[in-house]
Amino acid sequence: MGNETLGQCERLWIDVRLATFDPAVAAPYGLLEKHVLAVRRGAIAAILPQDQVALSGFGGEVIDGRGGLLTPGLIDSHTHLVYGGHRTREFEQRLLGKSYREISRDGGGILATVRSTRALSREQLVAQARPRLEALIAEGVTSVEIKSGYGLTVADELKMLRAARDLAREYPVRVSTTLLAAHCVPPEFCGQADRYVEMICRELLPRVVEERLADAVDVFCEQLAFSLEQTERIFAAARQAGLGIKVHAEQLSPGGAAALAARFSARSADHLEWLDEAGVLALKAAGSVATLLPGAFYVLRESRKPPVALLRQHGVPMALATDLNPGTSPLASLRLMLNMGCVLFGLTPEEALTAVTRNAAVALGLGEVLGTLSVGKQADLLLWDIDQPARLVEELGSIRPRQRIVQGEIVHASRS
Ligand SMILES: [Zn+2]
Repeated sequence: MGNETLGQCERLWIDVRLATFDPAVAAPYGLLEKHVLAVRRGAIAAILPQDQVALSGFGGEVIDGRGGLLTPGLIDSHTHLVYGGHRTREFEQRLLGKSYREISRDGGGILATVRSTRALSREQLVAQARPRLEALIAEGVTSVEIKSGYGLTVADELKMLRAARDLAREYPVRVSTTLLAAHCVPPEFCGQADRYVEMICRELLPRVVEERLADAVDVFCEQLAFSLEQTERIFAAARQAGLGIKVHAEQLSPGGAAALAARFSARSADHLEWLDEAGVLALKAAGSVATLLPGAFYVLRESRKPPVALLRQHGVPMALATDLNPGTSPLASLRLMLNMGCVLFGLTPEEALTAVTRNAAVALGLGEVLGTLSVGKQADLLLWDIDQPARLVEELGSIRPRQRIVQGEIVHASRS
């Protein structure tokens, strides 16, 4: 059975256990023992019980997994990894007792990164982003989302998105880009947030669409950033332009941003520490993913946690991501987020791993393409020398993938 399919495959793995994360496989983690996985033209072509496969006559490459575990590539679905400079001084100040508000008043916060990002060329931004992206790739990330949001002018936002696209060409990783011009009101529009929103919708968004520089649009909807009404205007423009919708919601205060995003069928609502049950139900009805970002919660030493029990009870898919950014989550490790998601937020290891595979793919609008080991999906795979998937969550620093496979090809973490 299945050997006609295998005959056309370029490569297959034998003696592996598969953690498929495919909901059609009833076992925890979607585990399949003693199966082979075959790839053809960059996609998963077959998953078959090994004892039903005859290898004699197979003309492609056979890879001996030596009892290893094969998983989908990891997906970091929320990052700000393209930026200039660092905010180490603020980190020190916060530890000396200064509040985030005081730091912002003294010229720190997002606007500090805006100044250092504007000062760099596209090439310099790429150079500064490389070590961050390489750290993610080395630990198993095969897809990453990158937001703009530190330029806040047409030219600087386009520069950030182009830098993100440059990284995609340079590394064996899939990059989804998100326009987050509504991250902060820039100094040029101080006290005129509505005019800035108008500029985003009328001037910036059409340029981004014309050059196909973004896959989605995001808004930081919060008392200290953009109002619900301003957020709605940007979502309406994004929907009209055919782009996906994401939102930074309910991080520092309650406010209904997630429910608003759900009305626009958002791919995800992110942070969510203050999300209430009505917001949970709105996400469920819209099919939106709840993306949890434990890195920012940890760095800001927050105490209010996202409503994991309610999300679980209502069956809202949860994703975990690094939120990699210079101010509140300078943590280039998705594996650390798996651990924090369990230890700080109470996810199970299976929920955490599903949150960086199947659910993260949905949060990027790529649920049909990525995130599980299923026939027809893109063959982004990791081969690990571990016996249980939960070890990826539990143990930090020492476990690296033996093989990284992107679109069916075995790749290295370095630049292409
Ligand atoms: Zn963020």
